[in-house]
Amino acid sequence: MLNISGLNEGYVLDHIKAGDGMDIYTYLGLDKLDTEVALIKNVKSNKMGKKDIIKIEGSYDLDFDMLGVMDPNITIDVIKDGRIIEKRKPNMPEMVEGIIKCKNPRCITTIEQELVHRFRLTDRTKGTYRCVYCEQSFKKK
Ligand SMILES: [Zn+2]
Repeated sequence: MLNISGLNEGYVLDHIKAGDGMDIYTYLGLDKLDTEVALIKNVKSNKMGKKDIIKIEGSYDLDFDMLGVMDPNITIDVIKDGRIIEKRKPNMPEMVEGIIKCKNPRCITTIEQELVHRFRLTDRTKGTYRCVYCEQSFKKK
């Protein structure tokens, strides 16, 4: 049972692959929040061996699309009045625009700076997103 003490309202992002917590923290822009945010690394997990957990206090507009692109296996506990009121999975949109950037130096988006970065979901099971312009798959790191 996950300890949610201290959280009255907010989110617990659970089952993050160990080592990915910091990237998700950065991509969600959690460093810019002025509410309580906790990144807990290398938590022991029966299912995963090790996992990372992020706790976010307060009403915050969580980007479920971004989470789906980062890792579709994350579990999101929605906390209200100190209790888990809902367990959610990230969204996995067919197409994402302007959320993540293509890192291929030869991609047209590198040359044409005003082009919107677009990624298409090419493998729902693996959660693979590929750039629509150059087919490069999105890598977090
Ligand atoms: Zn590209």
